[in-house]
Amino acid sequence: MKLENRVAIVTGGGSGIGRATAELLAAEGARVVAADLHEARARETADGITAQGGTALGVQVDVSQAAAVDLMVTRALDTFGQVDILVNNAAIAEGDDILTIDEATWDRNLNVVLKSVYLCSRAVLPHMIRQRQGAIVNIASVNGLTGLGEEAYSAAKAGVINLTQNMAVKYGQHNVRANVICPGTIHTPIWQSRLDRDPQILERLAAWYPLGRVGRPEDVAKAVLFLASDDAAWITGAVLNVDGGLMAG
Ligand code: NAD
Repeated sequence: MKLENRVAIVTGGGSGIGRATAELLAAEGARVVAADLHEARARETADGITAQGGTALGVQVDVSQAAAVDLMVTRALDTFGQVDILVNNAAIAEGDDILTIDEATWDRNLNVVLKSVYLCSRAVLPHMIRQRQGAIVNIASVNGLTGLGEEAYSAAKAGVINLTQNMAVKYGQHNVRANVICPGTIHTPIWQSRLDRDPQILERLAAWYPLGRVGRPEDVAKAVLFLASDDAAWITGAVLNVDGGLMAG
């Protein structure tokens, strides 16, 4: 068990990559707070973990709202007494073209994708600094590394990458590590509306990938586990592509 006696918060823990991550961290011994905008989904993740013999709490949160984020961390501390791992995973991907996206949608993307990392990190950092131990794993995207994605989402993800590097430099002296994962295409519910419009889209995208398939939530969860665990004790500020080789092309 790689995460015995650790407590982890996973945002967006009610679906896709967040759910797979919450389940894997719990299977490795962590007590997990699965936090999601949709309370029922957060509870479903927590119930699934409990049914497998793990320990988890489902919490409703809007990660773009400071008061809600602070309450999430307070609930984690009240329930489990500490926070050792934060996985900033919740996100939306709305709008596309800079010429058509409206201002409110732009702001919503930036708030849910980027501001959330600031809010959640600032809420847990004082506790991590005090206990001289912490691991923050942020989920960005290959879209944050290129000019090939939706503009607001991609710009926000690029911000997540830079914010991670700044946190790594600043808080390393307190033994708090911050790393960022850039997934390629992962088959999760975030694709559902596009799959409804174009059922073959993931098959076509798979052809772009050197490893010949799109990713699974578990592919990302395993990378999160590594970066959150002591196996990565001397790794901070890393940008890890989990992308089937896409960015090598
Ligand atoms: P998903 O839609 O399955 O899960 C995202 C979860 O975040 C949902 O449960 C949703 O309710 C929650 N969420 C949305 N807004 C929230 C808010 N304001 N507060 C709290 N929770 C909120 O998506 P996923 O594919 O599992 O995505 C997880 C992460 O991986 C995201 O950061 C996404 O940008 C990133 N990512 C996904 C892909 C992919 O192809 N699926 C690729 C690259 C990066």
